[in-house]
Amino acid sequence: MVKLFKSLLNFIYPAVCPVCGDLVDAHGSLCGKCWSRFNWISNPKCFKCGYPFPADLDLGSTPLCPHCASGECDLDFIRSACVYDDVSKNIMLPFKHASQLKYQALMSKVMINCLRDLNLEVDVVLPVPLAYKRIFKRGYNQATLLAKPIAKHFNAVLDVDSVSRKYRQDMGHKSTKQRRENVRGVFSVKNKDNIRGKKILIVDDVMTSGATFYELNRVLRKAGASAVYAVSFCRVVHAI
Ligand SMILES: [Zn+2]
Ligand SMILES: [Zn+2]
Repeated sequence: MVKLFKSLLNFIYPAVCPVCGDLVDAHGSLCGKCWSRFNWISNPKCFKCGYPFPADLDLGSTPLCPHCASGECDLDFIRSACVYDDVSKNIMLPFKHASQLKYQALMSKVMINCLRDLNLEVDVVLPVPLAYKRIFKRGYNQATLLAKPIAKHFNAVLDVDSVSRKYRQDMGHKSTKQRRENVRGVFSVKNKDNIRGKKILIVDDVMTSGATFYELNRVLRKAGASAVYAVSFCRVVHAI
């Protein structure tokens, strides 16, 4: 029955590659040609923060980047599906700013895939909160759209209420240090009961310096979260 329904659905709404429009096998999939243009993050990568290493680097089964090896990353795990470059940017930015929601299924799908080998247990999926001023302007929080199918996958609560964010000016092209200072103190936990003792997965479209994830992690831990993970569609990869 499910199969029949799916083929009927495919007949009415054929599955197409959201980038080029070619027919594909399933909704939310890229065609082979478009898939090969992305810089997907695979192994070897930092076991903790997911920072991609050069392909020929052999550091064992749970390698750490210098940043995580020195204990600077307090999250349990961070993962991103692909590297932020001209290809991923052409999906991420229209999705974020121009209501190009046709990319949502693809982005959520690859984010779920990049978490698969961690076998995480997740109680709460938390999209990175936007300040109300921004939600009013944009009409939606792009992280919430990405988080919905992810919460469903983990059979977890999608929590858009427990943490709020103050409005601050855009960070633009600032240094990592400036980004951290700018984001410090912007989040506050409004309902600790929803956070205390919970394993929380933070969701965002892009990880730039990690400052947003680190700051959210700080307030979630303070509110008693028992584990904090983060996942983004793409991440900026600086040389380290
Ligand atoms: Zn395509
Ligand atoms: Zn790392």
